[in-house]
Amino acid sequence: MSDFPTDPTDTDWSYQTAAVHTSIPRGLGQTVGLPIHAAAAFQFDTLAQAQDEFQNNTGLSYARLQNPTVRALEDRITALEGGASTVALASGQAATLTALLSACRAGDHVVSASSLFGGTTGMLNNILPLMGISATLVDNTPDAVRAAMQDNTRLVWAEMISNPAGDIADLDPFAGIAHEHGALLAIDNTCGGVGYLCRPLEYGADIVSQSLTKWAGGHGSVMGGSVTVGARQDLSRNPSYTDGGENSVLKVRGDAALAWRQRWLGASQLGMTLAPHSAFLIAQGLETLALRLSRECESALELARWLQTQPGVGKVSYPGLEGHPFHDQAGRYLRHGSGAVLAFEVPDPAAFLSRLRVLRIAPNLGDVRTLVVHPWTTTHGRVPEAARLAAGVTPQTIRMSVGVEDVKDLKADIAGAL
Ligand SMILES: *Cc1c(COP(=O)(O)O)cnc(C)c1O
Repeated sequence: MSDFPTDPTDTDWSYQTAAVHTSIPRGLGQTVGLPIHAAAAFQFDTLAQAQDEFQNNTGLSYARLQNPTVRALEDRITALEGGASTVALASGQAATLTALLSACRAGDHVVSASSLFGGTTGMLNNILPLMGISATLVDNTPDAVRAAMQDNTRLVWAEMISNPAGDIADLDPFAGIAHEHGALLAIDNTCGGVGYLCRPLEYGADIVSQSLTKWAGGHGSVMGGSVTVGARQDLSRNPSYTDGGENSVLKVRGDAALAWRQRWLGASQLGMTLAPHSAFLIAQGLETLALRLSRECESALELARWLQTQPGVGKVSYPGLEGHPFHDQAGRYLRHGSGAVLAFEVPDPAAFLSRLRVLRIAPNLGDVRTLVVHPWTTTHGRVPEAARLAAGVTPQTIRMSVGVEDVKDLKADIAGAL
C-alpha cells in the first residue's frame, strides 16, 4: 500500500551523498527534488487493507501518523544519523517531550547533564513533574551521572555539544552507566548537525533527539524536530514495555517497540505532527547542511582564535580551542570540526550589539547568517543565576552562531563594534 521512496538502510552512501539522494526515487518522470504531498488522508482499495493499516501502522492512512513528504524527511534523517528509524515532529521541544515520554511514565526518573538548552531544563523541571516523572540535573561527567542513578531511572539525557558552554557528552561511559541500570541514553544532537559532526548512536546512545529548526532547516525559515533510534535497545527492565505479559509493548512490537511508541506518543496521540511543507523545507536544508556546517566550523575556529587576540575581549569559549575543558572530548567524538557556536565576553554587551552591521541579534542557531544574543538577559534570563553561571553564561557573555558569510567581513564587523 505504501510506496515510500527508499529504504534508508539499503545503502552505504557517505554523508553528503545520502543527504542529496536519500528519499528521491529514480525513474521516468520522477521529480528530481522532493515533492510535497499536501494531504491529510489516504485512500484504501478495500476494507481489508484499511483494517490491516489500522492494526499495523506501516503505511498511509491519516497524516497525523504518516505523510509521504514527512516520511521522506524521516528516512533522510535516519540515513544521516546511522539509525533504524525516525519520527519527525513539529519542533525540537516536541521531539524532547516525545523522547522523554517514550522511556518514562509516572513514578520514573531521569538523570540529565545540567548544561542544557533552556527549553529542555524547563521540560525536566516543570513539565515532567506534571506527569509524576522526576529529574535530577548533574554535572556533565560520568561520575556525577553514576552517582545520581536510582532504581527507577529510565533515561540518561545529555546534549552532544551544549550551548553556549560547549560541553561535549562523554558518550561511551554515559551509555555504559545507563545500560548497567537498565536505562536508555538519549542525546540531543541539535548542535551535532544531524549526524554530520557526531552520530551518537554509533557510541551506544539509544535515542537521538534534535531540533531541526537549527542546522537542518538552516535558513531561519521553518521549525521542526526529530527522534531517531537504533536497531535495538534493551527495554527488558522498563515496565512501560514489559507490563502486560504476552500483550506487552515489547512482546507485540519486538525490536521496533521504542520507535513504535515514539510515533504513537508524539505524532498519533499528542498530535505534534510535522507539516509536509515544513518537512520539505527541512529535507531541502539537509542537502546543504554538510557544506554549510563545515564552512561554519572553520570560521568559528578562526574567529575564536582571533577573538582571543582582540583587546577588550574577555574569556572566549569554543571546544575547538586547546584550553577548553572539553577540547579532548571534542577530539574523541566530533568529526569535521567543533561546531558553529562560540561564546565570548565583552565589557558592554548592549553597546557592542547595537554597533553591529553584519551580525544580527536573534535567538536562533544554525542559520546561514551569523546570529548573536546576550544569553544572560534573553535565552537564559529565566534560569536561576547560579545555574546561569554554571552553564558558562556571565553578564558579559555574547553567544554567536557562526553563519556562512566571508569570515573577513565578520571580523571587520566585530572589530568595529568592539
Ligand atoms: C532549539 C533547541 C531545542 C528546541 O528546539 P525548537 O525547534 O526550538 O523547539 C532543543 N535542544 C536544543 C539543543 C536546541 O538548541
